[in-house]
Amino acid sequence: MASLEQPSAGNTVQTLIYKLWFTPLMAALLIGALLGGCSREKSAGATDRPRIVLFAVDGFEWDVALPLLREGRLPHLAALAERGVYGRIRSIVPTVSPAVWTTAATGKGIEKHGIYHFRRRDGGPGAESLFNSTHRKTKAFWNILTDYGLRIHSIGWFLTYPVEPINGVMISHAQGIGKPEWVKTKRSPEGKLIEGMKGQVWPVEREREMFDCLRRSDEKMPELIETIFGERLDSLDEVGSRLFRASRWAFRNDETYVAIAEKLAVEGPFDLMTVYMGGTDVAGHRFWRYYRPDRYDHPPSEGELKKLARIIPSYYVHVDDVIGRLETLLGDSTTVVVLSDHGMRSAQETSRFEPADPSKLVSGRHTTNAVFFAAGPAVRRAARSASWDGVEVDDLPVLGDMVDITPTLLSLLQIPVGRDMDGKALDTVIDPAYARQHPTRFIDTHDTKEWLEMRRAAAKILPGREERWEELRALGYLD
Ligand SMILES: [Zn+2]
Repeated sequence: MASLEQPSAGNTVQTLIYKLWFTPLMAALLIGALLGGCSREKSAGATDRPRIVLFAVDGFEWDVALPLLREGRLPHLAALAERGVYGRIRSIVPTVSPAVWTTAATGKGIEKHGIYHFRRRDGGPGAESLFNSTHRKTKAFWNILTDYGLRIHSIGWFLTYPVEPINGVMISHAQGIGKPEWVKTKRSPEGKLIEGMKGQVWPVEREREMFDCLRRSDEKMPELIETIFGERLDSLDEVGSRLFRASRWAFRNDETYVAIAEKLAVEGPFDLMTVYMGGTDVAGHRFWRYYRPDRYDHPPSEGELKKLARIIPSYYVHVDDVIGRLETLLGDSTTVVVLSDHGMRSAQETSRFEPADPSKLVSGRHTTNAVFFAAGPAVRRAARSASWDGVEVDDLPVLGDMVDITPTLLSLLQIPVGRDMDGKALDTVIDPAYARQHPTRFIDTHDTKEWLEMRRAAAKILPGREERWEELRALGYLD
């Protein structure tokens, strides 16, 4: 596996990409701070601005959560619902994670941010056909918070490779690297921390520390696997082992992101921290037929169900536990938000399951129904019964759209919303008393000309083909 995860020939190139990427970026940032910074209102230091932790949980589905809430197995999410708001957020089409998470992070639709899938149709051969963070054509909330002097940690948000210089720590979700085997196959690339590769951790000097978290997570994996599977892995049968091998990377990655979040939670003040977890999505794709066997013409055997029906619920319980652990570290003065990018439903209902065929490993697919919970300072307390008995997905309120997430976060943090954003700050979420005291303010756009120019330059450089480097070297960019 080491050779797969660490393309040695690519390493030098990655380092060069990284150096070249950060030099103009840092220069632009410093110049921005010196020249343009004074005109930007610095809102750091406001006393009643909430501190927010945002759990970005990929593919988290209400239809799985509701029975678990009824059984009392998601106590931390239940507590959020009891003291805050919960409901549905309408996702976008196409409902693919890079597009959805970028929409959530920018407050803008695909036509403005430019990320419509994993791959670019105009990408050309090789690495260039995968999207990476430099292809995003507008600022994300982590850029905007940085402009306003707020401290922001972004851990594993989709499509953040290579990392951007922010006022805090950024850990990329490195699925935009363009490894040839991902481009050639029709499979979605796996997003994860890749040992030894540059461009995944900001600031650079914290790289080693963050990779230590990855190694520690590896040590904890057997324990996590036992929690999810309820038994030791060596007792899994052929099908179970195959599905496990196709999911392990996501569980391992979540474990690393959570370890980093726990470290940053106690390290010092911050204004917003986001933690991404993708195991819910991957478990949903792989294990849906064991979770909802009634939906399939060829359901799994009793023996398979006995072993594998528990995977999806167990992972949801694990996510709830993670939320609880972070809440304990952060205290009730922290505003907690839980967001998914889409929901899940059954797929391939009529086909016979052939686990030897990789395309048949998928039995769950996305829906546009996303999950939202929020509670804490500045968040509305919805006057709803917290009993989950008889509550169906269709009964849950629709709180807003994916484009509303960033305007809502900005408004909660007392930062102006861009008039060029497609979404709005949600009054279904923000506490009315807080909104009266801190009405949403506006700015034409957060995207300065300098920033846009820098992005265009970076997007040309980054796709990482060797010959680009030779061109740049010839131009004297590299010594
Ligand atoms: Zn998915």
